[in-house]
Formats: sequence, C-alpha cells, structure tokens
Amino acid sequence: MQNRITVVEALRKINAELRLLPTERVSLSAALGQVLREEIIAREAIPPFDNSGMDGFAVRMEDLTKIPASLRLDGDIPAGKNPVGEVKPGSCIRIMTGAKVPPGTEAVVPVEWTTEIKPDLVNINRCPKRGAYIRRAGQDVTEGASVVNRGTQITPPVVGMIATAGYQEIKVGRIPRVAVIVTGDELHLEANVPLPPAKIRDANGPGLAAQVLDVGGLVTGPLVARDNPDSLIQALETSQGADVLLISGGVSVGTHDLVKDVLVQLGFRRCFWRVRQRPGGPMLFGTLGSQLVFGLPGNPVSAAVCFLQYVRPALLTLMGAAEVRPPFLRAMLEFPVRKAAGLHHFVRGKAVRQAGGQLVVQTTGPQASNLYSSLQHANCLIHLPEDCVDPSGGQEVKITCLPWSTID
Ligand code: AMP
Ligand code: MG
Repeated sequence: MQNRITVVEALRKINAELRLLPTERVSLSAALGQVLREEIIAREAIPPFDNSGMDGFAVRMEDLTKIPASLRLDGDIPAGKNPVGEVKPGSCIRIMTGAKVPPGTEAVVPVEWTTEIKPDLVNINRCPKRGAYIRRAGQDVTEGASVVNRGTQITPPVVGMIATAGYQEIKVGRIPRVAVIVTGDELHLEANVPLPPAKIRDANGPGLAAQVLDVGGLVTGPLVARDNPDSLIQALETSQGADVLLISGGVSVGTHDLVKDVLVQLGFRRCFWRVRQRPGGPMLFGTLGSQLVFGLPGNPVSAAVCFLQYVRPALLTLMGAAEVRPPFLRAMLEFPVRKAAGLHHFVRGKAVRQAGGQLVVQTTGPQASNLYSSLQHANCLIHLPEDCVDPSGGQEVKITCLPWSTID
C-alpha cells in the first residue's frame, strides 16, 4: 500500500502534465463537440428588429374600441421584406411570422381572430393586448452582449446561438487524437463465430473508443497487441501520431503484464503506477515523448471507471474546457455498502430523486471489476473516499452523474 498514491495525488500528477492543444479556426457547422477558445459577442441585437410573432394583421389599438372592428386591408409584409408604409388609422396590414412590423403597429392580431369579408376588408373579432405578438428587437440578446463563453464545449444549441450571433468560423481547441490499444492473448476479435476455448471478447477496445468519441475526441484504433514485447512495440509505433495513448490491460503484477517494461524501453517517463482505489488500482500514467500515456487495468469496469475519473477530465482540459468533471451531488445511501478501508471506492450506483427532492442511491449489485452490467445499469458513480469506513444505510454520500445518464 505504501507505494500507492491517493486519488487526489493521481489527479494532481496528471494535471501537471496537461498542456492545451493548439487553437484552430473551424467552420461552425463542423465544430460540434469541440471547445470554444474565444468569447462570442452578438454582432447585432437578437432579434435584430421588432417583428411579428404570428401570421396576422398589424393594427393600431384605437381602431379596436368596438369589436368586431372592420379595417381596410392596406398591404402585405412577407418575412424578409422591409415595410414601406405605416399602419394608417382605420386600416391594417397583413403580416407574416418573422416579418418586420411597420411603423405604427401597436399589436398583431392572429389570423385566427379575424374574418376576411372582402379582398380589402378584414373583421377583427377579438381585441389583442397592446403590444401582443410583437417580438421586440433585443428581446433575446442585446447587441454586443456576450452569448457564449470561452471554454464552452459546443453542443447543438451552442452552434445555433453562435450562428445567430453572426459567426461562420470560430476558434476552438484542436480535437485530441487518442490511440486505443487493447492488450491480451485471450482477446478473440472475430465477432460472428463461437469463442474458441479460453478466449474472451474485447470489451475495452469498442468501450473505450466510445468514451473517447463521447467526450469529443478522435479515436485511432482500437489496435490489438498480444502479450509479447514485439506486438506491443508495433502497436505503440503505429500510434505515434496520437496525443494520448490509452492502453488497456497488462499493467498489473502478472508475469505477462509487459506494458510497463516495454514502455520504459521506448523512453517512457512514469508519473505514477498504482492508486489507492477500487476499481482501477493498478493504473499507470506517464509520458512517452510528447504523448500522455494512460495504462488502464484490463478488467472492463476498471478501464471504464479510470477513463471517467482521469482520462475524460484530462481530454477536456487539453481541449480547453472550463468544466471538466461533473458536479458532486449529495445522496442518501439506501443500503449499507461493503468497503475496504484505505481505498477510495468508485461504486456503480442507481440514484433516484424522491418526491421531496432528495436523492437516494443504491448500488447496481455486485461490484467486481469484471462485471460490466454493474456499469451498464448505473446512472452514477458513488464516491467513497479512503477514510470512509463501512458506509451504512441512511448515510449521506457524494455521487456524480454518468455523462450519458440522467437522474430522475
Ligand atoms: P489485465 O489487466 O491484462 O491483467 O487483465 C485483467 C482482466 O481483464 C483479465 O481477466 C482480462 O482477461 C480482462 N481483459 C483484459 N483486456 C480486456 C478487454 N479488452 N476486454 C475485456 N476484458 C479484458
Ligand atoms: Mg492481460
């Protein structure tokens, strides 16, 4: 236990190695998932002018003292056309949703509240409130206002907002290139045939690649290396263009766990090996030239949890994100949980919100690190720190929502 570091130290050692990836200019339409490296300022007010919220008629209030009111139809303003005249006493102007309202408009009467008596005569059957269905300039955003902050990861609504603010190209952090290498002689890669004896299917290659894509990274691989030095060296050489190497398996203390030694042969600088945590205790981290290397234990839950705890925040930091980890939420543990003293446990949990608003959490069942279903059925991780001893039912714990889940 002595030579193992704490979860906090592991995070600190990783952070010390992280450098922002370069900034690049990209087309907004291709920027989904990247992190903004500039502040977005609205070039104009949004909306840019007073416009109609309905298809209907622009009217003056003084003409509607008696309902129904008959008004002379005095023109038509489609969206995109600058109105020429104003609304004159006793008349109205047909207007489309989004069209600029003409001077003199005090309300828009929806077409459903009207009857067209003759081609140039409209009856208003219901009186709108003053200002009704006029969407005011700047109602959403005022000109020059900051609409998206630097460090924001670009989601579909952020794309829409930036486009509305008048940008076609934006500055973002380059996408991290992540090479996924899975190791093990036991991995059988052909999907549609029965498993040969003593072989297993590869969960980590596709699983880790999906986590990289989910956070906005670019995956190369997954490559498969066998438990011999030549095969590992070949995979590492193939991955030279990556910013980050994710290696699954082979970092523990077994005689076939060769990853550390092979990395060292190639010039690896080790920052740490082994963390006082479960799952993921044998995790390895360091650098190989300019590459960050995460050696993740092969058990699929260990690999996935180490990704969530260490790799995901690191990738977001490289991208320049302001928020790199989910906020801690407080929840009540429904049942006692068995826990090793002196280890930080990441327990897969299912949290639900009770009627009063309080979160209650229970584990997803047996927590051994080979049991993938414990992760698949979880919506959160329960964080039980080293000094927590045998947490009991009713105890308050910290949880984080999994990135692809919600708690409801
Ligand atoms: P290792 O870290 O290489 O000692 O592997 C630990 C456990 O994880 C062993 O039971 C391996 O068979 C298993 N394992 C390693 N790599 C994978 C993988 N890519 N997919 C599924 N299980 C794996
Ligand atoms: Mg192995």
